[in-house]
Amino acid sequence: MSTLSKRDFIVGAGVTMALGVMGNTAQAARHTTWDLIVVGGGNAGLPTAIFAAERGAKVAIVEAAGILGGTLHLSSGQMSAAGTRLQRQRGIIDSPDLHYADVMRISKNTANPEILRLAVNAAAPAFDWLMDQGFKPIDTHPITGTTHEPYSQPRYVWGRNGGRDILEVLNRQLAPHVQSGRITVLTGHSAVELVQARGSGAVTGLVVRDADNRKITLHARQVALTSGGYTANPQMFLKYEGTRTHTRATYPFSQGIGLELGLAAGGYIRGGEHHTPLFGAVLADDQSPTAMRAMARHFPPERPPWEILVNGQGQRFLREDIPSHDAYEMALARLPDERCWFVFDETIRLQAPPLLRGGFSGPWTDADTERAFADGTYGFHRATDLRALAQRAGIDPQGLLDTVASYNRGRDAGKDALGRTHLPAPIATAPFYAIAINSWNLLSYAGVAVDAQLRVIRRDGSAIPNLYAAGELLGMGTVMGNGMPGGMSVMPALSLGRLLGKELITFA
Ligand SMILES: Cc1cc2nc3c(=O)[nH]c(=O)nc-3n(C[C@H](O)[C@H](O)[C@H](O)COP(=O)(O)OP(=O)(O)OC[C@H]3O[C@@H](n4cnc5c(N)ncnc54)[C@H](O)[C@@H]3O)c2cc1C
Repeated sequence: MSTLSKRDFIVGAGVTMALGVMGNTAQAARHTTWDLIVVGGGNAGLPTAIFAAERGAKVAIVEAAGILGGTLHLSSGQMSAAGTRLQRQRGIIDSPDLHYADVMRISKNTANPEILRLAVNAAAPAFDWLMDQGFKPIDTHPITGTTHEPYSQPRYVWGRNGGRDILEVLNRQLAPHVQSGRITVLTGHSAVELVQARGSGAVTGLVVRDADNRKITLHARQVALTSGGYTANPQMFLKYEGTRTHTRATYPFSQGIGLELGLAAGGYIRGGEHHTPLFGAVLADDQSPTAMRAMARHFPPERPPWEILVNGQGQRFLREDIPSHDAYEMALARLPDERCWFVFDETIRLQAPPLLRGGFSGPWTDADTERAFADGTYGFHRATDLRALAQRAGIDPQGLLDTVASYNRGRDAGKDALGRTHLPAPIATAPFYAIAINSWNLLSYAGVAVDAQLRVIRRDGSAIPNLYAAGELLGMGTVMGNGMPGGMSVMPALSLGRLLGKELITFA
């Protein structure tokens, strides 16, 4: 899955066909005034539509891709929910308050209190509902965490097939509404513009573009924007998060249209300042975004570090054995272009446990690492002395020489300058090695501002009539703040989408 293209997801409306709604086109749909148009049939949009239909609303889902499901096709589907039935059955005492406190701890008190409160309160009912409809978590779950900063309580859950297990449930719930005509699915139709009443700015419809590139206006009493984030749109990523996104591991339809629609309607964007990268991508080449060759194992409780980590000046910037994903992510976020290097020597190469593992491009073994050094693969550097190594890698040579000397002295004295205690070997035996590491991103931190009813709001706090939003479009900086609490994208998308359809949207 090195490069995902839109073509992969334009598959002749497979899901739509299964639901028996082939032939639905916006040309036909334009004659109806929909109670609700849902823009984007993904993790947030599907429950919005399902629960609105259960209340009797006549709903159209406008979906740009050829299939429904959005990011759930790729997502690991990891969810966090507190106070669930599953937790009670396992004797775990947890609550939305504890969940809230954990997210605030991990985000350094930067998550939006109002929206976070809404998300943690909505999580357990949505998760219980998912289980009632047949969702099966992994036997040993819930857990406190793995690849993200651990929670204080075991509340972290996913299924064997990641996001696809969630999608299976949603598709099953959607089908009867499609068959009854309550929900109309328009795949292969892209939302391009909202229609608003003059004066009040109330949303009255949506302009879509069909597969033949024709613009068609649909009429609606309410519109819910659930079109996901912008991680597949490098320009928008740079604009809102102030840094490049290096990898292409995300859903190709995550182009950020919802932010543009929200802005054009009079809303505003927030949260990008909380940008939080994932640590540890080994990139395929210097094109950004590009494929991810491998990932670094950098969580010290699982693999205590043998190497040092340096920035472009050759300086260490982090106590490498700090037992925190967040510390790694925050440290990387401060470096130019979010890039650093693992540096080590021949003894460490021979004795340390594997540093790299497979990434989004498939498996990765020690033999692959050996080959990469031998071939001079992009990002892999080897040299007989540290100065030459630095020159090859693009690190300041004198900086690296000074840093390695200082690290070795600290290690001999048992007193590391940054407080590191795992000091298994000096960096002293040629040849020397460096592996370039970059950030990678799966989430959009900026999104449209909403109030506690998930109504899209203007800067003065007033709601734009008839316009709602949920999912990644709210911006992870709002729900997660500056950090990456696990499962806080999949779960809020699903649970707030459900809340929107079930309660928050008002139908006349
Ligand atoms: C590889 C990967 C792994 C992840 N793993 C996790 C995880 O384990 N836990 C977690 O919490 N988060 C994870 N995430 C993030 C999480 O999956 C998403 O943030 C979340 O599912 C987003 O849901 P959504 O409904 O907001 O957006 P999506 O599911 O992306 O749905 C948006 C929909 O809108 C459609 N759309 C876009 N533009 C238009 C348009 N112009 N007109 C009509 N439709 C449009 C899209 O095609 C899509 O179907 C992961 C993300 C990725 C990419």
